[in-house]
Amino acid sequence: MDISRSVHAIRPSQTLQFNKKVLELIKAGVDVVKLTAGEPDFNTPEEIVNAAIEAMNAGRTKYTDSSGIVELREGITRKLIEDNGLKYDSQDIVVTNGVKQALYSIFKATLNDNDQVILITPCWVSYEAQIRMNGGEPVLVQAQDGNRFVPDVSAIRQAITQKTRAIVINSPNNPTGTVYPHSFFKELAEVAIENDLFVVSDEVYERLIFEGHHHSIASEPFMKDRTVVVNGFSKSHAMTGWRVGYMAGPTQLSKAVARIQDHLCSNVNTIAQYAALRALTVNNDSMKYAFMRRRQLLAEGLSEIGLEFTMPEGAFYFFVDVRSFLGSEYKNSLELSLALLEKARVGVVPGSAFNYEGYIRLSYAASEEDILKAVQRMRIFFMGMAYRPS
Ligand code: GLU
Repeated sequence: MDISRSVHAIRPSQTLQFNKKVLELIKAGVDVVKLTAGEPDFNTPEEIVNAAIEAMNAGRTKYTDSSGIVELREGITRKLIEDNGLKYDSQDIVVTNGVKQALYSIFKATLNDNDQVILITPCWVSYEAQIRMNGGEPVLVQAQDGNRFVPDVSAIRQAITQKTRAIVINSPNNPTGTVYPHSFFKELAEVAIENDLFVVSDEVYERLIFEGHHHSIASEPFMKDRTVVVNGFSKSHAMTGWRVGYMAGPTQLSKAVARIQDHLCSNVNTIAQYAALRALTVNNDSMKYAFMRRRQLLAEGLSEIGLEFTMPEGAFYFFVDVRSFLGSEYKNSLELSLALLEKARVGVVPGSAFNYEGYIRLSYAASEEDILKAVQRMRIFFMGMAYRPS
């Protein structure tokens, strides 16, 4: 059967592919350390699981409003006021199947053929694919390691054309862990207003900041009407498998996204919505402190090996510079990542997956024991002595 041109051109998600590869090896009994997917290794907190059980026992197992149960949407509006100073009405919120579906529906609702969307690289793997799947054209603007991967607003300005509709930003950032400073948001807001663009602000790592503060560009003057905030529970509350995210944006856009949702999936799993409602009241500090310890451990280990990196301020990734290890043996980050898996039994994601060559991404959403093991193996690998797995 012929597959449509738009889908044919889409490559599989590299984060998920690398993760799958590692999981298959682990299942086959191979001792691999998994630093691939950005997925907290903690269990979902018990209170949240209990909320789901209570919902099922109470018969809350039917369809809901396609935008989500009103209690959850109201809870999200309270969170947005308390944490971000953003005032939304519950009709401006749509609960989605993770942030991924929020983004897809936003692009579907806003892009016409060949509209351009600016992405800052390195960037998360699915933005580009989702824009293409919706007929848009991603335009890549590189952030520089020398500037801690904070995007250069003048480079963004230069990339704007008559066809530019939107800019996607993501702070704390995947894969670099950078938390953008307030000055960046102010400057970007000016550019968006001047050029009549809207901003898609992916804030899913908001609750995982170890240095600096989260700031939503939607709270800049005149930006709320031209920003759509996306966020979710996967990373903050170890709820990746529950698939609950949301968007908050101008009413017209929220209504359009809800209309798409009507036809696409009716609503997010009802039970998971009740779990997310409870998650709004669950503090994630203990996970955050665990990530902070792991970040320190991995930073020390990488430094000892002599690997270079910009210290991440948030999320749970290191974006490590491996340019000095590329050459005749491993030509690019993909070959190096495959060799790391094969020879050192450490699973990472190549920078090329994030449209940024010369780097690898290590997720420290892994136990301290695994992090130490990975460091030991990488030390041997990078010192040029082939590690022989037993
Ligand atoms: N967002 C996570 C990551 O970057 C999970 C996998 C995915 O959805 O890409 O690893």
